[in-house]
Amino acid sequence: MGEEVKGVYALNLEVLKDTKLRVGSLGIISLKKGNYSYVGSALNNLEKRIERHFRKNKKIHWHIDYLTTSNDVKIISAFYKETINKEEECKLAEEISRQGIAVKRFGCTDCSCDSHLFYLKDYSIFKNFLRNLLGFSLP
Ligand SMILES: [Zn+2]
Repeated sequence: MGEEVKGVYALNLEVLKDTKLRVGSLGIISLKKGNYSYVGSALNNLEKRIERHFRKNKKIHWHIDYLTTSNDVKIISAFYKETINKEEECKLAEEISRQGIAVKRFGCTDCSCDSHLFYLKDYSIFKNFLRNLLGFSLP
């Protein structure tokens, strides 16, 4: 992937135990142990953006950074698709909302979605769903 690559992604996380986290403007949120998926997009450098999510050590910038830097959270995988259509991010969030339970207002400072973070009941089924929907994955 080159620097100019734009796209959308779903980042899959495992919350290792029931936990409470402070997430910027959202305040304290409660997360129960289990799998979650977060939807985001990058207007350039898609691969670098995704790789950044896998790093524990970074400056907090987005809501998701509060999760990815927590010791109670493990990053499992990311599925992605190249696209130049900005609207695809919220469309993807809507698709995933049917597969999980929304963590209200998470990751939605710039849009009117319910959420961009979802608790998943069954990660293995969800993984196949994402593979069909997006195609590519990391690692
Ligand atoms: Zn949205």
